Amino acid sequence: MSNIERKDSNLAFCIKCGAFLQEAVIAQSEQICPGCGRNMVVSIKNGKVVVFESERKGEAEPDYKLKAREMSYFSYLSKKKDTNQELSAKHK
Ligand SMILES: [Zn+2]
Repeated sequence: MSNIERKDSNLAFCIKCGAFLQEAVIAQSEQICPGCGRNMVVSIKNGKVVVFESERKGEAEPDYKLKAREMSYFSYLSKKKDTNQELSAKHK
């Protein structure tokens, strides 16, 4: 690598919707696009920015996405529970 180390950071944008993802001199990370919600992989190295959609599922998901899913599942459950309670209350 004879490339001069540039301090200029590179900007990474979503390839699907064009939303700004991150700015870095060097990066290799996966993140959820704030624009379209897709899981994008950002690779910035030697002034080259590569962005592609991640095909991985499960373990690579950031916590907040899992949390959001858990929360919606939870609210679904509690809603269902409420309805059941309501029904059984009316039934008796
Ligand atoms: Zn996007």
